[in-house]
Amino acid sequence: MPELPEAETIARGLGDRITGHRVHRVRIHRDEVVDPMTPRAFKKRLTGRIVQRVERRAKWIIARLDDGQRWITQLRMTGRFIWSPPAPLRGEPHLSVSLLFEDPNHQGAGVVRFYDVRRFGRMSILDSEAWSELDASLGPEPLSDRFTAETLERLLAASGAPLRNLLLDQQRIAGLGNVYANEACFIARVDPRRPASTIGCAEVQRLHGAIREVLSNAISRRGTSFSDYRDIGGGEGEFQNELAVYGRADEACPVCATPIHRVVLAGRAAFFCPTCQS
Ligand code: ZN
Repeated sequence: MPELPEAETIARGLGDRITGHRVHRVRIHRDEVVDPMTPRAFKKRLTGRIVQRVERRAKWIIARLDDGQRWITQLRMTGRFIWSPPAPLRGEPHLSVSLLFEDPNHQGAGVVRFYDVRRFGRMSILDSEAWSELDASLGPEPLSDRFTAETLERLLAASGAPLRNLLLDQQRIAGLGNVYANEACFIARVDPRRPASTIGCAEVQRLHGAIREVLSNAISRRGTSFSDYRDIGGGEGEFQNELAVYGRADEACPVCATPIHRVVLAGRAAFFCPTCQS
């Protein structure tokens, strides 16, 4: 499931391709992708607009449009954007949306296609008020200056939930998912099952650094590809080769060789080294 580094990689790739380009035509192949908007309203508000900038917030891909609206996409489990030069559609069973872009100089036109095997991905068009509401509902960006060790300390102190669960709460910290939350706990040498409020001062410092380190490294490796995630050129990320604990139950800890434990917290697997993480 795409998390912050994968969404960032996709946003940068899309930005390189469609910034300054006009949305010439929108085709919706599965209506639920724009729910609760109607396909007709979605197409009307997006067609003809010029993309001024593509950015990321939490796990959302955000395209700012020339009339102040934002075209936003949540990839969820298996959503994937692919850019290509204009080409006719072949049989494409998982295609949800296709958008034809043209640049004002009539050069470099391209098609952006959104594929989604599991169909949980969603798109919408938001005016600035609706965007502000969504933005305000999300926690701080972990790679921003706003996210300090003091911010993290306050978040942890206020929660008795297991640390790993708190790290997944998008209203507290934006963009972390299960892969990077588990990896950050390993780097910080903290047991992900511990109640968040019991994490000590030195541990908070380590965890803050670990969250930023793992996300930055994953962005530089273009994300983690297990099965579905691809960048907009169809390429895989490389960070799956560098995971220390996530998905590695019973394999040797890269630091001490103790077998990695897997437990289920709030319905989702957590992975940790029982020797290194206390
Ligand atoms: Zn270990």
